[in-house]
Order: sequence, then structure tokens, then C-alpha cells
Amino acid sequence: MSIFDSTKRKKKLKTPVGFSWLTFLYVGKTDNVFSESTRRVFIINLFTSVGVLFTFPLGIVSLVNGQLVLGYSLLLIAFLYAMNHVYLRRTHNHALSGNFVIYPLYILMIYLVYTGGVKGTGHVWIYCIPAVSLFLHGMKRGLIELGFFTLALIITLFFTASHFDEFGYDPALKSRILFSFIVVVFLSGIYEYSMSRFNQELTETSAKLKLVAYKDAVTDLLNRRGMLQRLESSAYSRFHLLLADVDFFKSINDEYGHDVGDYALVELANLIQASLPEKGVASRWGGEEFLIAVCDCSESDAYALAELIRQRVQEHEFVYLDHKFRMTLSFGVATMNESTSLREAITLADGRLYQAKRAGRNRTQRG
Ligand code: GH3
Ligand code: MG
Ligand code: MG
Repeated sequence: MSIFDSTKRKKKLKTPVGFSWLTFLYVGKTDNVFSESTRRVFIINLFTSVGVLFTFPLGIVSLVNGQLVLGYSLLLIAFLYAMNHVYLRRTHNHALSGNFVIYPLYILMIYLVYTGGVKGTGHVWIYCIPAVSLFLHGMKRGLIELGFFTLALIITLFFTASHFDEFGYDPALKSRILFSFIVVVFLSGIYEYSMSRFNQELTETSAKLKLVAYKDAVTDLLNRRGMLQRLESSAYSRFHLLLADVDFFKSINDEYGHDVGDYALVELANLIQASLPEKGVASRWGGEEFLIAVCDCSESDAYALAELIRQRVQEHEFVYLDHKFRMTLSFGVATMNESTSLREAITLADGRLYQAKRAGRNRTQRG
């Protein structure tokens, strides 16, 4: 892969501006596209915000009602979630941040079921667990952790006694809590599975589309859009552009037909590709024009490369069925640097190519 693969100026993911609370939910994202990790960050932020909004007032209410352990636990969770948001903002570590969300939640839920919460209503909160676990940890890990949580739930419901003293769960209610929880796990699993399959398909399709959009179908080189994208996002601020145009290409088409013209373009692309240095990239810039970019070399090296390609093409015999012919290239060379923008360098190269044509073709013009 060439050096032009590195990216310096990535496009920013469009987060909804004007709705600051939505922008807030993307805090800590590292990707610039709506990837799986952005989705997780979004869910963590959403869950922690909702978590704080619920646990904080519920914690205060529990304290006022004299349920000190529950109250302090809820306030601790609210504090943890608020800190988690700060942590995510600072470190962008959504994997660890997700753990801060999910494990205290497991403990709180088991505690609520164990104590009965407020007047035996503690269990009604456990149904948020499956969705959050699967969203944050994915299918495999999420299901394993849900398995452990279900086990803890069974032990708490059926094998501990003291917690029912005050309110008491009806035995029928205990089994209903368990089964309905398993149903929610199942449904959340199906949802998560279809969502991640859908995401995966979408990612693959968009990668394929990108490839198609950025590649020239005839020569398999980058097309103009692909080349511009590559150059604009390059980490290099200085490189040389070699713009080549086939001399009298129209006559090849006229004499031998369009198919032979296409064959000649492929053959030319192969010759160019084979001559490229490690830090170079070639593209089909237009009909019978090729744009090459090279970096980490001097202007004379770039000129020498254009001359090398020009000579190789000149010496190459193009053979298509029983047609044999030769072709030549004209080159315009320019440099993009701190004082010459990419667009300016392309215009310069184009102007020099025009000069090479006017000077008789089959030559390289530099500044
Ligand atoms: P010059 O030396 O001035 O560049 O002459 P030229 O004949 O190469 O230039 P001109 O612009 O007159 O012709 C370019 C030709 O390239 C015209 C067009 O039919 C041909 N062409 C452009 N794209 C393709 C393609 O994809 N396949 C084929 N076979 N021909 C193409
Ligand atoms: Mg031409
Ligand atoms: Mg042309």
C-alpha cells in the first residue's frame, strides 16, 4: 500500500448540531463514521444520562423514606454514571466505560430483587438489563454475562429467604419474573443479532461501493474521485504530480476500434503501475490521461520518473490480436507544497502538459 493511504484530514461525523443534548451523546466517539464503536459510545452516553436522571431522584426518595442502603446505592450509581461520562470524554475508552455501566447495574438489580426495592417493586427494573448487556457487549459476551445474571437471579429468587420477610414474593410471581426475564433476553438477542447482521452487511456494502466509486473499471487504477480523495487526505504536505496524456490516442480508436483503445489503456496502466516507486500512486485522471503522485523524493527524481515511464511506453510494442502498434506519452510535472495547493499544482501540471504537446509531444515538461 502506498503512503497516500494515511489520512490526515478526516471528515467529521455529522452530529446533529443545534440539539446539544444529542451532540452530548456522541462525546467520546473515536470514529468519524457511525461505526459499531460510535453506536456503543452513543448507547453508553444515552444509558448513563438516563441512568443519572432516574437513579438520582429515586436515590433521594429512598433516603427520605428511610431506605438508607438503597438510597446511597442509587446515589452512588448516579455518581458513577456521571463520572463515567467524564471518563469517556477524557479517554474515549468505551470498552472499559461500558463495564462501568453494566456491572454496577447488575449488582443494583440483584440487590433490588433481593430486598424487594420499594414495596416489593424492585424486580420491575431488571428488564432493562438484556438490551443494555447485548448493546454494550455484543451477542457472545452479552449472552454469557446474561447467563450469569440469570443464574444470580434464580439464586436470589429461589434460594435466598430473608429478603421476602417484609413483602414476600408470591411463588407464582417468582417464576413469572424469571420467565418473563428470559423472554426479554430472547427478544433482545434476536434484535441485537438482526441489528449487528444489518450493520455488518451495511459496512460491507458501503466498502464495496466505495471501491467501485473510487476505482476505474477499465484499468483498475484509482479514478479521478479516488485520486483526489487520496491526495486530499494524505498526511504528506509535499508531493510531485506527473500528469500524462497519450499522444494521438484518437487515431488508435479510429484505426483499430474502441476495444483496442481500451486494451491500450489497460496496458498503459500496467506499464505505469510497474514503474511506480514505493511511495507513489497512479490514477486514470480522465479518458486517456493518467495522474501520478510521488513523494519523499526531489523534483528531479519526479522528472526522472516521468521520463522513465515515457521511455518504457515508447519502447513498448502493443499487440492486440493481429494489430501491432506503438504509443507515446506527454508529461507535465508540478509540485504541491506549502505554497502551492493541490488544485494549483494540478493546474500547473496541466499547463505544462499542454506545453509538452505544443512542443511536439512525447516529452516531459517541468517548471
Ligand atoms: P493529443 O495528442 O492531442 O492528446 O491527441 P489525442 O488524440 O490523444 O486527443 P483527443 O482529446 O483528441 O482524443 C482523446 C481520445 O481518447 C478521444 C476518445 O475517443 C478517447 N477515449 C477517451 N476515453 C476512452 C476510453 O475509455 N476508451 C477508448 N477506447 N477511448 C477513449
Ligand atoms: Mg491525448
Ligand atoms: Mg486528453
